[in-house]
Amino acid sequence: RGCYPALNPIKSLRQGQRVPTPPRLEVRNLIRRFDGRTVVDDVSLAIEPGQVTCLLGPSGCGKSTTLRMIAGVDMQDQGSIWVDGKLICDTVFRIPPERRAIGLMFQDFALFPHLSVAENVAFGLPKGATRDMRRVEELLDRVSLSGFGPKFPHELSGGEQQRVALARALAPRPRILLMDEPFSGLDERLRDGIRDDTLSLLKEEGTAVLLVTHEPHEAMRMADEIALMRSGRIVQRGAPYNIYNAPVDRAAAGFFSDIN
Ligand code: ADP
Ligand code: MG
Repeated sequence: RGCYPALNPIKSLRQGQRVPTPPRLEVRNLIRRFDGRTVVDDVSLAIEPGQVTCLLGPSGCGKSTTLRMIAGVDMQDQGSIWVDGKLICDTVFRIPPERRAIGLMFQDFALFPHLSVAENVAFGLPKGATRDMRRVEELLDRVSLSGFGPKFPHELSGGEQQRVALARALAPRPRILLMDEPFSGLDERLRDGIRDDTLSLLKEEGTAVLLVTHEPHEAMRMADEIALMRSGRIVQRGAPYNIYNAPVDRAAAGFFSDIN
């Protein structure tokens, strides 16, 4: 009758079976080499909306390189990146960074010094009369900085700047947020409080988050899932509790042993 069941994926599913939805972000078999040295070695990941995945591993293991490829500011030698089941990048096809709906947040916050706090947060929003300043106020309020809109970055503490950077990253409602060691520039005593506040905002927004860190404590505190990375490879993946209690090998156990 015009439609063969075998060609219709929804009809061909058994009754009561859910139509499988692709992950929000999927990375398949990414490989990156620098000068013949393999720095990211067959990394695969999948992240769902509302989920925080921590890419955890020692300095130099390839975390930032992985993030840069997903953001589109570096190009993999092999592998592919998918958002909601759509290919955004492989070795022949490439959607540019600004069209990926992927937000970025790095260690040094990098606020624009010549723009006010409100202008910083509004930066990724459409310009002109349609610019959604209510969204800016909502986010400033949400990071406990209502009233800070007219101030400039140099008038803010490190923690306050970090919160502005978070508001700026979330303002355009990115489908995915990549965070590279976002707390490491902060005073140690402030970090846990800011981690908790950041996490609750991320959960409220429902963003799919890939957070890079070299601190096991941070991953334990923030992750729904940890991907443990070493020498360019993901050596273990799972819920924080499971990884902590059943590390895959001696090195993984050692990595977690000095957790504070
Ligand atoms: P991590 O973020 O885990 O500390 P990186 O991804 O920054 O690690 O780096 C992984 C390895 O790749 C390091 O040995 C680093 O020196 C090397 N590397 C990173 N970027 C480049 C580059 N553009 N050219 C050459 N080597 C690089
Ligand atoms: Mg790094």
